[in-house]
Amino acid sequence: MSGDFSAEQKRYLEGFVSGLGAMRSSRGLPPLGARGGAMPGMAPASAPAEPTGPDAAGLKAQLRTEAEGKKLDPIEIARREENGLDSYSRMKKAAKDGVYPKGPDILRWRYHGLFFVGPAQDSYMVRLRIPNGVMTHWQFASVADIAEAHGGPYAHVTTRANLQVREIPATDGIQVLEKLVALGLTCKGSGADNIRNVTGTPTAGIDPQELLDTRPYASEWHHHILNDRSLYGLPRKFNVAFDGAGLITALEDTNDIGFSAVEVRDGFGVEAGVWFRLALGGITGHKDLALDTGVIVKPEDTTRVADAIVRVFVDHGDRTDRKKARLKYVLDAWGFDKFLVEVEAKLGEALVRVPGEAVIERPASDRQAHIGVHKQKQDGLNWIGVTLPVGKMTVEQMRGIAKISRDLGDGDIRLTVWQNLLVSGVRDANVALAVAAIEAMGLGISATAVRAGLVACTGSEGCKFAAAPTKRNAEEIALHCDATVQVDRPVNIHLTGCHNSCAQHYIGDIGLIGQRVTVSDEGDTVDGYNVCVGGGFGPDAGIGRELFQDVKAEDAPRLVERMLKGWMANRSSDEESFAD
Ligand code: SF4
Repeated sequence: MSGDFSAEQKRYLEGFVSGLGAMRSSRGLPPLGARGGAMPGMAPASAPAEPTGPDAAGLKAQLRTEAEGKKLDPIEIARREENGLDSYSRMKKAAKDGVYPKGPDILRWRYHGLFFVGPAQDSYMVRLRIPNGVMTHWQFASVADIAEAHGGPYAHVTTRANLQVREIPATDGIQVLEKLVALGLTCKGSGADNIRNVTGTPTAGIDPQELLDTRPYASEWHHHILNDRSLYGLPRKFNVAFDGAGLITALEDTNDIGFSAVEVRDGFGVEAGVWFRLALGGITGHKDLALDTGVIVKPEDTTRVADAIVRVFVDHGDRTDRKKARLKYVLDAWGFDKFLVEVEAKLGEALVRVPGEAVIERPASDRQAHIGVHKQKQDGLNWIGVTLPVGKMTVEQMRGIAKISRDLGDGDIRLTVWQNLLVSGVRDANVALAVAAIEAMGLGISATAVRAGLVACTGSEGCKFAAAPTKRNAEEIALHCDATVQVDRPVNIHLTGCHNSCAQHYIGDIGLIGQRVTVSDEGDTVDGYNVCVGGGFGPDAGIGRELFQDVKAEDAPRLVERMLKGWMANRSSDEESFAD
């Protein structure tokens, strides 16, 4: 210590420096002044090669894989070379230089929510995180301002009740991320092999039939995963959803972990009341919905239990083949019993299991409750479900929705997995005015049976994987079918551009998956689809089966029309659903 300091100042400095030492050692860094320190998370060369620090579990799993003589997937190797979370300063430099990422950096940038989407669009897409899909009117309006200043003047609501802003140039990606942080929003972990946006019942806290409000649990999990580095960089992406048993489903059975609120009866050796039922392994693109484990979880324990599940996945997920790296494949290899024993070991306590008869089935959801005006559980208040053409809205419409929410609602905007949004807390006396204002912007609050359940992924207009322009084709199907068939029961039509299944074609009554269709001997192809039928979710859960192959996109509207007409003509009663 040097300099002209008083005794008190010297004591402060000494304490400050020793405090720094403690901080460094808690992060696995060498003491100040030491040379040749190890990389964070890696042991120094002279120490035993046992990884330490927050990246240790993933590194150990990689080492174990290699020790078994297996070859790591190249993305695993890239992850070991640099964790995406550590790429921020390089990402900033790339923005300054006006260049897009190449090679493994494309995936690393996605840790921060920045997606280079070339060659489909030579630009970035930014995907947010919105826990439980609920945001404030001012956040929503500000996202519109950001989209206008830096991207295409529009945003998409995704099938994870989230927002995406597109057409952002190389120079502006970082600015978008930082402006979102200033709004109390973040994009961290919204892409790559991370835990994705946490979905929940969109009517949480206002739903007349819900068993519980999912927002606190979704929010707790959101903050938990955001702030624990060891929960990034999983073998593959991971989805978690909370269903509060409300009128609008959260499609929790399409998630790796689905928590569904249920009432547990008296007399089964556990406290009666509301618990979450645990389902695992949903990944509809691989033809599996999450299956009930027989485990129930106290709502306040969901973060701990989900954390333990993810950590078992980190230890044992496949690191050699990305096509088999999702949780489902650990469950397939082990069975649920062995997996749950491992989860209990991580948790340090037994999970609670009850037989099926201990649980009262949740009240049914309503397939139209995300559209139109619905009474809230609070007297005199309503939510208004606004339709968006397959999730797309202009920045003017976003600002308009934000203003309606602020002036006539409770200030919240709730996004749904059905690619639309709700304005909540609208007084009875203000409903007509709010509806008129929504309609004045070119949006609506009603939808035909075909449009209400129409879902489409980004498609070839913005995603390089797509074999067809799904959003455009979805619109064409809806336009044609609305003009030619009077469908009187809800029907879900899902269009997805590739096997990644972002729009979950396998759970649609009718599901279309993009497929290049060969139209000449020279191998020329056009946009097209393979078509499935009979998928469903919740009590009607099912994976669709393929009925038609190689349907040209231009023929899809007439094919869907024929399918709908065939169902209506041949059903045994008006009550028979498409899935029946
Ligand atoms: Fe892109 Fe495929 Fe996802 Fe559609 S399903 S957005 S084409 S990755």
